[in-house]
Amino acid sequence: MRIPASTDKILSMTPSLTKLHKFFQLEAERKFDNRAVLGGLENLLDSWEPEARADQVDESLLKVIGARLKDYNRLSPEGRAEALDGLWSRIQREAGLDGNIKKPNASKPKQETAKAAAPKKAAQSPPPSTKKKVISNKPADGPAAALDAAVTVLDGVGPKNAERLQKLGIESLRDLLYHFPRRHDDYTQLLPISKLKYGEEVTVIGSVQSKTVRPAGKGKAKIAELVVDDGTAAMRITWFNQPWIIKNLNEGDKIVLSGRIDQYLGRLTMNNPELEMLDAEQLHTNRIVPVYPLTEKIGQRWLRSIMSKVVQYWAPRVRDSLPEGIIKSAELFPLHHALLQAHFPDSFEDLEMAQHRLAFDELFLMQLAVLQQKNAWEGIEARSFAPSKEWVSTQLQRLPYTLTKAQARTLQDLQSDLASGRPMNRLLQGDVGSGKTVVAALAMATVANEGAQAAIMAPTSILAEQHYGNLLSLLSSEDGPLAENEISLIIGATPAAEKRKILSGLKNGEIKVVVGTHTLIEDPVLFSELELVVIDEQHRFGVQQRAALRAKGDNPHLLVMTATPIPRSLALTLYGDLDLSVIDELPPGRKDVGTHILFPRERERAYSLIRKQAENGKQAFIIYPLVAESEKSDAKAAVEEHKRLQDEIFPDLEILLMHGRLSADEKESTMARFRDGEAQVMVSTSVIEVGVDVPNATVMLIEGANRFGLSQLHQFRGRVGRNSEQSYCILLPENDDAAENERLKAMVETNDGFLLAERDLEQRGPGDFIGTQQSGFDHLHLANLADARLIDKARRHAKDLLSTDPELGLPEHKALGLTLKNYWNSGKGDLS
Ligand code: ADP
Ligand code: MG
Repeated sequence: MRIPASTDKILSMTPSLTKLHKFFQLEAERKFDNRAVLGGLENLLDSWEPEARADQVDESLLKVIGARLKDYNRLSPEGRAEALDGLWSRIQREAGLDGNIKKPNASKPKQETAKAAAPKKAAQSPPPSTKKKVISNKPADGPAAALDAAVTVLDGVGPKNAERLQKLGIESLRDLLYHFPRRHDDYTQLLPISKLKYGEEVTVIGSVQSKTVRPAGKGKAKIAELVVDDGTAAMRITWFNQPWIIKNLNEGDKIVLSGRIDQYLGRLTMNNPELEMLDAEQLHTNRIVPVYPLTEKIGQRWLRSIMSKVVQYWAPRVRDSLPEGIIKSAELFPLHHALLQAHFPDSFEDLEMAQHRLAFDELFLMQLAVLQQKNAWEGIEARSFAPSKEWVSTQLQRLPYTLTKAQARTLQDLQSDLASGRPMNRLLQGDVGSGKTVVAALAMATVANEGAQAAIMAPTSILAEQHYGNLLSLLSSEDGPLAENEISLIIGATPAAEKRKILSGLKNGEIKVVVGTHTLIEDPVLFSELELVVIDEQHRFGVQQRAALRAKGDNPHLLVMTATPIPRSLALTLYGDLDLSVIDELPPGRKDVGTHILFPRERERAYSLIRKQAENGKQAFIIYPLVAESEKSDAKAAVEEHKRLQDEIFPDLEILLMHGRLSADEKESTMARFRDGEAQVMVSTSVIEVGVDVPNATVMLIEGANRFGLSQLHQFRGRVGRNSEQSYCILLPENDDAAENERLKAMVETNDGFLLAERDLEQRGPGDFIGTQQSGFDHLHLANLADARLIDKARRHAKDLLSTDPELGLPEHKALGLTLKNYWNSGKGDLS
């Protein structure tokens, strides 16, 4: 390997090439395993190329470097060695040593990059003098890509520890920086021993008077004991089974202890406190101490020391991509300060400010992303559909009922979108049973009436069939706007011959409205003129699936619908790129579902209710939280309970079983059988379909109700009460604990899904609203989505910024633009 180990010569070159050299060097040390940069050397390119351009590295050289690194992963270790070797010779020849490259401010970056080239040493113990200099450098000069180096560049972190850290989601230095404490303990209360009180968290400074290690009882365990004196009094301190803690202490040593004051035989003492030498830099004592999430074999003290080094060395080097104007006007900590204070705060106020800044970043990026998306859409043209007033009122008169106010308002929203000449991008929220389908159907009819096509995609065949039936009766019965053969249904089970016919009908435009499952987005489905795309139960679809259907048309109008009530603050954050319509009112005449909380011993009352309803020809759902009995939980298991109910409780009734381990087909046919009245009871886990209409069901019994969020309970409840009969929802928590079950009372008090969602958000955070398919949230570590004020602030600043610089093209916004680009590339964008 000819890559020189010393960087002396290279230092006369540009910083970007120096950096490149550093990674080549690291690769060589790692025997070319392509892990010097996380995800491979190729990953370096995105951030490195712009830097190299700024250094005026020749374009043709950039091309060569890019091409080699892109291929690098495919080479054997020998091939890689050769490739880097050759590449380096070429760089030297073309750029390196003959002064071809200009060296803008050569002296400053020299220092910076020299240290960046040796993170191992520097991160371990920055000598005080260099530390100062480094910190006075502008953070924005920091080597961005170096932060992507694997944690193994740190002293004390070998492959084993790296593997363990990986379990915490930590691979790179950046991950470490962003691995925030779970909480902080306050050990700043420095007290004289004579003033200590039982139960206090304190820090004590004193000198060692004596030490002993003795066996604890008969086993191998040992008790280590110190007597510490601080001039006001002496105290005995014990550690159980950690003799090494005091091993190197000598009489008279000055030490710092932090922990809780305990009592033993009437005397104050401390058990297993944190201990440090007084002259050492205090990391674990006498300060506000971070407490990190841990994993097996990663100890608190070890991680804290690693974090301290990483934070001290790297936090000042992180590029702050937030424009200074925003940092000032939003009164935020600069990033490097926020990172430092989030880990090792000087005070709890500083900690709060730090968390505020970091949470702001997360929300701000998200808002920038959605607003840019929104702007992009608004700049596109779409076909305009503006039906006459007469036509609309004719359609309304044909309906078997009058629209509710909320439905009418929503229809108005949709009509003005369709007429606008810009593509509709709208989220329609409405509680289960609020009547979203008819509004969507009218929009589809509007489009079809002018000869274009509309498609609606549902997550399951059974839902698609239900929609198909509804659309036929709404749009093609009597003198409806469409003929029956202009509406069709395409699902997995559609026979091949029929499928062919539908495909050709869609392609030649004879079919105007199509209902389907994901079958719709499969390749052979082509449209002649798809102008409106409707997605039902949108949280059940991934980003790509939604995009795929949209791509079947040429900038079609898009309507996504959801029955999950999402609080407005959250909706703005998650779906800020969409306009929002809400149907917040149920059609008249619905009876509220009677909701009751019973206790376990009252279970028989619930069973007799089910029995009575079954005698009257009605049906019941029974929901269980888990599929199979697990040791850790005494949750009732659907499988076993199904058997028990069938054998012992309802031997004369037909009981169906639904759970997550059934195939999609089995689930659907089970649901269809229940809908068709083949059984009186359905036992199910929480997988039960949303949106499926079983109007004949009047009882929803939820076992282990305490395990579910209010929103989810509300969704379950929405399965019943879909006709004019009185329906019931019975909540059965696992035990009688009044405090634990307090939360459930909200279900009795209100039928308003939005109110329940707000409560959920307060009590349990946003997790319950976020389906597994919903990307875009895993990066919200610090931001609390319930914090409407911060969301608002982030949104306001994002809007202001984009109004002055929509493309983030100004020099002072370049860094931010790059961060945003990474945000998109990492798949966190396109939330709708
Ligand atoms: P969801 O919003 O849950 O999709 P649906 O569209 O399935 O609700 O509507 C639920 C039921 O309410 C359907 O049976 C529908 O016919 C009925 N419905 C919808 N709108 C009205 C209305 N304005 N008046 C009376 N019934 C209505
Ligand atoms: Mg629906």
